[in-house]
Amino acid sequence: MARYKGPLCRLCRREGEKLFLKGDRCFKDKCSLEKKGYPPGEHGQRRQKVSDYGMQLREKQKVKRMYGILEKQFRGYFMKLERQKGITGENLLIRIESRLDNMVYRFGFAISRNQARVLVSQGHFLVNGKRVNIPSYILKPSNVVEVREKSRKISVIKESMESAAQRGIPAWLELDVENFRGTVKALPTREEITHPIHEQMIVELYSK
Ligand code: SF4
Repeated sequence: MARYKGPLCRLCRREGEKLFLKGDRCFKDKCSLEKKGYPPGEHGQRRQKVSDYGMQLREKQKVKRMYGILEKQFRGYFMKLERQKGITGENLLIRIESRLDNMVYRFGFAISRNQARVLVSQGHFLVNGKRVNIPSYILKPSNVVEVREKSRKISVIKESMESAAQRGIPAWLELDVENFRGTVKALPTREEITHPIHEQMIVELYSK
């Protein structure tokens, strides 16, 4: 399925939750969800009964949209992790948090995951000193992500680092602002992923 190119705030309104797709605006009262807290469309304000299947589907869509991952890749993560040890739902969240585009966003090098994906694809980052332009590249503890020397003047990177400095970065990451360099101290635990996500519903959906 192709990547969604419509209005981003509409996706939050559809899911009824903030997906943080627009950077700074999401933290201000300009947020569309705060102004129109009901689903988009003609029947958006009508109450609708949702089945268990419908709720599971919405939960999956919400997470995919929040992290900007397409169905094929998202399902691929599930299929792989289902065969591994541990709790599949938790492992799924930790896996998507470990993607390079997400980490670039978490370090504050981009204001949103969408912007992070574009910047990574354009080749503005090094991982352990080597250029990586694959947004889905999976990082491991002790990996170092760095903005390339010639990319450090790019205004969107500088501006997003300034705005991220005010919000702070997660405890599992370490940022050296002066050198535009971030280190993955550890992968997050489930408790450290604070988005309200019910991953078990996604597991139930894919296990049908
Ligand atoms: Fe979602 Fe951000 Fe738009 Fe608010 S401003 S509706 S959080 S994308």
